[in-house]
This record gives sequence, C-alpha cells and structure tokens, in this order.
Amino acid sequence: MGVNDSLYSPDYPSSRARFREAARAAGARLHSIPLSARGPQGEDLTIDVAWLGAERPRAVTLHCSGTHGVEGFCGAPIQLQALGRAPNPPADGAVIFAHGLNPYGMAHVRRVNEENVDLNRNFLLPGEAYQGAPEAYAEFDPLLNPPTPPGLDLFAPKMLLLLAKHGMPMLKQVIVGGQYDFPKGLFYGGARLQEGPRLWGEWVRAHLSGVEQLVCVDIHSGLGPFGEDTLLVEAELGSALFDRLRDTFGARVTPWNPNDGVAYSIRGGYPSWLPAQLPEARVDFITQEFGTTIPLRTLYAMREENRLHHWGEPTPAHEVKQRFRESFCPSSPAWRGAVLRRGAELLSQAMGLAFNDGPRP
Ligand SMILES: [Zn+2]
Repeated sequence: MGVNDSLYSPDYPSSRARFREAARAAGARLHSIPLSARGPQGEDLTIDVAWLGAERPRAVTLHCSGTHGVEGFCGAPIQLQALGRAPNPPADGAVIFAHGLNPYGMAHVRRVNEENVDLNRNFLLPGEAYQGAPEAYAEFDPLLNPPTPPGLDLFAPKMLLLLAKHGMPMLKQVIVGGQYDFPKGLFYGGARLQEGPRLWGEWVRAHLSGVEQLVCVDIHSGLGPFGEDTLLVEAELGSALFDRLRDTFGARVTPWNPNDGVAYSIRGGYPSWLPAQLPEARVDFITQEFGTTIPLRTLYAMREENRLHHWGEPTPAHEVKQRFRESFCPSSPAWRGAVLRRGAELLSQAMGLAFNDGPRP
C-alpha cells in the first residue's frame, strides 16, 4: 500500500472519522448536519463540514464530495490530502470542505440516497415539478431496471442495438438526463426535495449568505477516460464565461451538453441550484469528474447494484457492490495517484480564482 493509497478509506465510518480528525488537526471548525437515515449497521449519518478561515468571509472556496454517495470514496481522499496541507485562505476568505453530501449512499455503497434518489437530479428550483421523464425512458426501462435480482442476461448486446438505433448523444440524454416517473429506476430525481439537500440548503443560506465570491468544486467519478478528469461548467461554448473558466482551469473545461464531449444536460442539478441559494454572490461551479472505465461497463455496474438493492439481499460486502465501487473508485494505484494529483491542482486553481482575482465583470 503506497502513500496515495493510504488516503483512501474502505468504508464510510472510517472516511468520516479521518475527515473529522484531519479537520481538527488543521485547526478547522467542524459542523455536522445529522440526517435521519441510518448506515447498514444502524450508524448515524451526517454531512460533515470543515471550515478554515474567516467566520464571515467575503470569498469562499467550497469543496464538495459524495453528492453521488459511493463517489465520495474518491472525493474524500482529495479533502484529506488538502486538510493535511492546511490551506491558508486570506483574512477575508474561507476554504470549506463538505464530506459526503449523500452519506447514506457512501455508507451503503450506492450512488443514490435512502429513497433511491440521485441527488444531482433532485435540486429542482422553485416552480419546477418533480415529475416527467424523457419520452424514450419508458422504452429503456425494462432493460435498465429489470425487477429481478442480479444475474446474467443479454444487457450488453441489447444496449449496443439501442446505441446503434439512437446514437450516443441521444441515448446518454434519455438515460442519464434524469427522470421523475420510475421510483426504482436509475437516475431517479425523487418526488420532493430530499432531506439531505433541504438541510444542506438551510446550512448554505445560514452560513454563506454574506459571501460575495464563491468557487465551488464538486467531485464526481465514473464518466470519461480512466484516470483523467473533465471539468464540467455551467457555461455555453463560446461565451465569455466559458472562455474565462477555460483560461483559469485549462483545456479540460467542458460544457454540460450531450453533443460536446462526455457530458449531458441534467434537470435538478446541484450546479444550477447552489447559485440560486446565494443570489448576492458571484458563484463559479466546477464539477470535477474523474473517468474510470467505459460508459457501458459503468452503466452495467449501476444496473446490477440497483437490482441487488431492490430485488436482492444487499450488503456493502456483496460482490455486486464491490464491482460497483470499483467502477467509481478503482483500486488501481495509478488511478488513485492521478485523482489526488489533479484534485490538488484544481483545488489550488479554484482558490486562486476565489481569492486572488480583482473585481470581475
Ligand atoms: Zn457523480
């Protein structure tokens, strides 16, 4: 086990304990938001926050992980590494780390929360309805979400046929764009705002409402080439904002758009919700997405895990869970090292953008 490997935790309780310990050692203030859901052994679940710097900051770098539960196993090590280096914001600034925005998913080795909700489809804004699905999702539902325990079937060839028929951009958009009509299905956005996002929103508004400038980095995994990160931003290709973000963060910056690169557009996403909670602030939101394997294999792992959860006997140690986890946080030392390196680079660039910039248009 190398130095890099040692920052990776085997389960949620140890990841949380290490995060809290590293926060204390770095002199950070700790906040803990308790949720009513429980871990597989009945453990408490909390959204833990480590806060370094001013209590009422003007500028903030907010680093979030585990919006998609299991993906927190790749985000938390970046945070542990950063806390170990004790980042030093300016007098009117703060660096804030949020460990495990979906602690249920991390504890149970799921992407979704206790109501099968994909939190990055749940952050709808006032006036948006928790209903609807892409028209073609119903056509894919029997293949994506069979009501049976995991087992061998003809998923891959059937999926390849659909791919040939519809094309990748359309298929991606239909399947992963988000749906609100199939509660046991993949990429389900929920029937209401979930407890975690609701409490997180209250916390954000209570603690960050005076902030003028905020740069948020949200760590994800499972999309894109192995060991490489894509930086997804809320800006159109060719816009001034897009050019500015590309100047700051480099060529990996990509818009949320099914036709340009690996991404797709989503409803109910955290990136468009966060700025709406802080209308006085200038918010730049970067989703740092680490690639792990080919999309079909990731989708298959998600499908099998979902079948196990709804129709089988799930435990975090089940082999389906282990393969699922491997699809979002590979054990390869090269992959893990790349995540820590790029995670540190982006955090440092984000702090530069939040703290060093003068007034911007
Ligand atoms: Zn994700």
